Amino acid sequence: MNNNYIAGQWIEGASINRNINPSDTDDLVGVYARADAAQATLAVEAAAEAQPQWARMTAEQRSDALDRIGTEILARKDELGELLSREEGKTLPEGIGEATRAGRVFKFFAGEALRLSGERLPSIRPGVETDVRREPEGVVAIITPWNFPIAIPAWKIAPALAYGNAVVFKPADLVPGSGWALAEIIARAGALPPGVFNLVMGPGSQVGDVFAKHQKVKALTFTGSSSTGRSVGIECMTRGAKVQLEMGGKNPLVVLNDADLSQAVEVAVQGAFFSTGQRCTASSRFIVQEGIHDKFVAAVKERLASLKVDHALHKGTDIGPVVSAAQLKQDLEYIEIAKREGGHVAFGGELVQRATNGFYLTPALITETHNQMRINQEEVFGPVASVVRVKDYEEALHVANETEFGLSSGICTTSLKYASDFKQRSTAGMVMVNVPTAGVDYHAPFGGRKGSSYGAREQGAYAREFYTSIKTTYTQA
Ligand code: NAD
Repeated sequence: MNNNYIAGQWIEGASINRNINPSDTDDLVGVYARADAAQATLAVEAAAEAQPQWARMTAEQRSDALDRIGTEILARKDELGELLSREEGKTLPEGIGEATRAGRVFKFFAGEALRLSGERLPSIRPGVETDVRREPEGVVAIITPWNFPIAIPAWKIAPALAYGNAVVFKPADLVPGSGWALAEIIARAGALPPGVFNLVMGPGSQVGDVFAKHQKVKALTFTGSSSTGRSVGIECMTRGAKVQLEMGGKNPLVVLNDADLSQAVEVAVQGAFFSTGQRCTASSRFIVQEGIHDKFVAAVKERLASLKVDHALHKGTDIGPVVSAAQLKQDLEYIEIAKREGGHVAFGGELVQRATNGFYLTPALITETHNQMRINQEEVFGPVASVVRVKDYEEALHVANETEFGLSSGICTTSLKYASDFKQRSTAGMVMVNVPTAGVDYHAPFGGRKGSSYGAREQGAYAREFYTSIKTTYTQA
């Protein structure tokens, strides 16, 4: 049994969670504890008690702890990547890549812990010193989704600890394994007083609810669906807690007539379908100018036909299974909705059998759609992308921006003029030119606009905006 880690102790849950491999539902990845609301409260109380001691330790001690965690993750990236692929379903190279990223994130914030700076302003009063400093928020609650089960926890836990906060962390119920493995590494890193880091696996309706409502949680960072994010955000704002929400997307990829066709096809296929399309930054709308439309669709179909959908751990698999039966049902429902609305399934969207019982769906390309259809306005979160045909660049830009979301967007073009204009006028938080909408650097700010995100940016040096609180001091000597 893999237990929760609360106040420096491994503690059994109120119930258990059986972690099933989506590539092979007969494969039990492990049995994990599930905390209830009382245990979540215990974790928050422990974090609140331990935090001042952690904040008083030197930046170098915090940096060393993060560095050790990063070193162990990188040393064990193959094993952690395999666990991740087994429980989430992304391919083994993708799983190892994600574990590597998590290690790099801890290394980055090991450096950032030493770089936290303040500011001195000239005072308007003689002899007065005016200083601006950054302090930890206190207890930070972390709620994460299933689709990046080690990287997202890492990019929240590392800055939270680097800047002197205590952490209560709840991974998604579907993927407790990677979160547990990360917690076990953190628990063994030494230097963290008991209670500074707490792992509380369990249902969102109980554990997540306590995190959102508890007065001692001073800041909450959430990544997940828009509907859950909004309700968590309202709870936090009602009691005046700081909140950061990273939510859904409906990310457009514009392909102009002047695009390099083979590059555009790679950018589209990689951005929409790899990691089984289960990325918040996945391209789900291809907005294609009429002069290249037919060639682009034909080439994407040909590329999709060359991809192998199979067990995530098998060599040569390009696309692993969908994460769960519920997500598979949602993907299939959206394909049906698109058909009913007049869309044409040009490729895939079919359930397929493999040697093991898994949730296997071929990547679906839906053509003849317009932007008002539900398939183009609502997040599917699977290997499903649709094509909207447009006349010119201005129409493409309009369609790209015509969405309640604003996480990531992309354009494939060889025109400097259109590339520059798109970077300026796209209403997304991250804009890509000739690179996939999914796939970002870990030291650059990450986040969206409109309905996709709320609050400060994540990652890189920008992360300090969320994990620290500013204090202004005035001193007369
Ligand atoms: P989800 O909203 O169902 O769950 C996210 C987390 O919230 C889970 O840990 C869940 O247990 C918890 N939760 C559920 N109910 C809760 C409640 N009432 N109170 C507090 N916590 C609660 O999302 P998911 O299905 O795990 O993840 C998929 C979604 O995540 C997609 O919409 C995707 O776009 C989004 N996502 C966004 C980003 C981003 O950076 N913008 C990154 C990855 C995933």
